[in-house]
Amino acid sequence: MRVDLRSDTVTQPTPGMRAAMMAAPLGDDVYADDPSVNALQEKIAALLGFEAALFLPTGTQSNLCAILAHCQRGDEYIVAQMAHCYRWEGGGAAVFGSVQPQPLNHQSDGTLLLADIEAAIKPDDAHFARTRLLALENTFGGKLLPMDYVQQATDLATSRGLARHLDGARLFNAAVAQAELVEAKAGAAGPPQGERGPLGGQRSTQSGERGGDIFHEARRIAQCFDSVSVCFSKGLGAPVGSALCGSRELLTRAHRIRKMAGGGMRQSGLLAAAASYALDHQVARLADDHALARRLAHGLSGIAGLIVEPPQSNILFVDLAEPAKARAAQLLPHLARHGVLASGLYRLRFVTHLDVDAAGIDHVLAVMRDFFAV
Ligand SMILES: *Cc1c(COP(=O)(O)O)cnc(C)c1O
Repeated sequence: MRVDLRSDTVTQPTPGMRAAMMAAPLGDDVYADDPSVNALQEKIAALLGFEAALFLPTGTQSNLCAILAHCQRGDEYIVAQMAHCYRWEGGGAAVFGSVQPQPLNHQSDGTLLLADIEAAIKPDDAHFARTRLLALENTFGGKLLPMDYVQQATDLATSRGLARHLDGARLFNAAVAQAELVEAKAGAAGPPQGERGPLGGQRSTQSGERGGDIFHEARRIAQCFDSVSVCFSKGLGAPVGSALCGSRELLTRAHRIRKMAGGGMRQSGLLAAAASYALDHQVARLADDHALARRLAHGLSGIAGLIVEPPQSNILFVDLAEPAKARAAQLLPHLARHGVLASGLYRLRFVTHLDVDAAGIDHVLAVMRDFFAV
């Protein structure tokens, strides 16, 4: 059995998705006449409550276009130390845009202290870069940012004249987790309201008919921002692609930058059709990935020396302490010999997705227990 938990990017397109790709009407998106790209852009923009959207090959390019559309040379953006668009994208905003990052240490729940954001905003003075943008990420390392915090941080940014960008590579994972929280609260407080989104409400498979609409929560998060980037190639299961959503004006600038970055694609409707299929069919099922991460966490928590962080979405981190730590270097090779792929050394990362099921997770648990001889 092969169980690849390195990332949720490793998924294969499902048969339904492949069929949708083959059936997609195509044009040339550089002439803006690929009907499948146009339909996807309209769909995701409407879904998240924005005027417009732009389809891009990667989340990296999407974040880059967003930062460069918001900022000029010599501007800066405030961002978390471990945020993808600062830490893991080759410093692109600085390299290609001369936009300076102002990274801030974050708290263990992924939030930046409001006081730290406030203190990082530079006065209008020739000594300083112009602080132009606050960039947040949700989910952040698999963690759902608290909605109150998102509201407060983005309100603070607005009150200080900053634009707000969300790296929502896993926005729909955040929405699924948030919908479950809302449902749990509603369950505690009385009958749910059952509000539905524009696609008629794909619901968490966990929540059945009660409360917590995923698209409603995705929009509630997205609407705190001027731009939102979403990945289709992560948990949503599409082979390629991201969308940047925002105002028409912002996206006109982003479109020019996408062109400069070499992101003007042609018959990209093939890819857009996969993304569109994912939005129609593979959002609610993200709840299954979250449940599998919890199943894995639960099973691993009995092993001595493993410090298991309760997962909030589809990413599980496990820290190795003694006695497990002493054998850390042998662990991933042992897993690989039994068909299990993960990443890390003293801090392991397991990511659940479309191509993993409960039997796969139980296999991982058996191989882990075997290694630690429990
Ligand atoms: C994966 C990811 C991206 C974009 O990655 P690409 O590989 O360029 O598509 C951006 N932000 C976050 C948080 C991600 O996880």
